[in-house]
Amino acid sequence: MTVQYEPPNQDAASAAAVSGCCAPADQVSCCDASAKAECCGTAATGSSRCGCQAGDAPEEPSTPIPVTGEQAPETFGGPAGSAGLPVVVIGAGPVGLAAAAHLVERGLEPLVLEAADRVGAAVAEWGHVPLFSPWAYDIAAAARLLGTTGWTSPDPAQLPTGRDLVERYLAPLAATPELAGRIRTGARVVAVTRHGVDKTRTIGRDGRPYLVRIDTSGGVTDVIASAVIDASGSWGRSNPLGASGLPAVGESEATPWLSGPLPDVLGRERERFAGRRVLVVGMGHSAANTLLSLVRLREQEPETRVAAMHWAAHEP
Ligand SMILES: Cc1cc2nc3c(=O)[nH]c(=O)nc-3n(C[C@H](O)[C@H](O)[C@H](O)COP(=O)(O)OP(=O)(O)OC[C@H]3O[C@@H](n4cnc5c(N)ncnc54)[C@H](O)[C@@H]3O)c2cc1C
Repeated sequence: MTVQYEPPNQDAASAAAVSGCCAPADQVSCCDASAKAECCGTAATGSSRCGCQAGDAPEEPSTPIPVTGEQAPETFGGPAGSAGLPVVVIGAGPVGLAAAAHLVERGLEPLVLEAADRVGAAVAEWGHVPLFSPWAYDIAAAARLLGTTGWTSPDPAQLPTGRDLVERYLAPLAATPELAGRIRTGARVVAVTRHGVDKTRTIGRDGRPYLVRIDTSGGVTDVIASAVIDASGSWGRSNPLGASGLPAVGESEATPWLSGPLPDVLGRERERFAGRRVLVVGMGHSAANTLLSLVRLREQEPETRVAAMHWAAHEP
């Protein structure tokens, strides 16, 4: 497959400024004629000056870059007439979908890649917990897209739960005609790099598009993008139990007995905790919420025993 090289949208002002590859540390290599041609354009090679000067602009390749091999990157099959490379957004949570909505409003082409099989997957994990921000602060400018679909805005003063946020906002937003064809679920981003340059090449790197590698049920595939927005969140990468951000010794072996933050103690994970001895580790809102739920569970299931411990391992 051959992919037409589409350079990222470059700001004319930054193109006219001294190029990044001619930063002081690169001045020597920029004195090499071929390196300088690549960095500054042929106009600059005739110059006896070392390094790029204001006004020197990198040349764009005029021919398509051929891409071969088993994992030839694909271009995003966006709507008809969409000639540019997409802006890849990693994650279809509140931030990723808001970013995609803003990109559409600015006439850019988003491609949202979501690892889970649905949008708002991380928020759905704590769907039983109320947010502390009322609706007025949760729906952002993305609501403009929803306004054209007959969507009814929730009461701005109400506090939604995580589940409300997914069902009443994120899922309808993802289903709007503007975003529906631009979201891929079941697509986990496993790497982001620059297209066509290896790790050792610095010159011209910042003018190359991105290559985003995705793991899907159908295999690994690559997408070429003009820019990448990381909205992958932090859910699923919680603090380990040990000190200094490292797992405690034996923590991985104890995995079957460990739960992540904010388990649904009174709902879908009730059986896991009812009538058991439970140790809550932590001292933030998640720990406090979990303790409150466990106390309520004990009222219904008196055999349940709860102990709280607050990051004892972290203290000197
Ligand atoms: C209990 C609770 C209550 C909260 N209440 C509030 C509140 O009231 N107000 C407030 O402003 N904030 C609140 N927050 C915080 C808020 O929910 C988060 O800041 C918000 O969800 C972050 O959104 P996000 O889109 O960045 O990340 P997430 O919601 O975590 O979404 C990230 C998405 O990226 C996907 N993903 C991850 N890795 C990859 C990958 N490699 N490739 C592809 N996809 C990937 C995930 O599956 C997920 O769908 C609360 C959080 C919690 C836990």
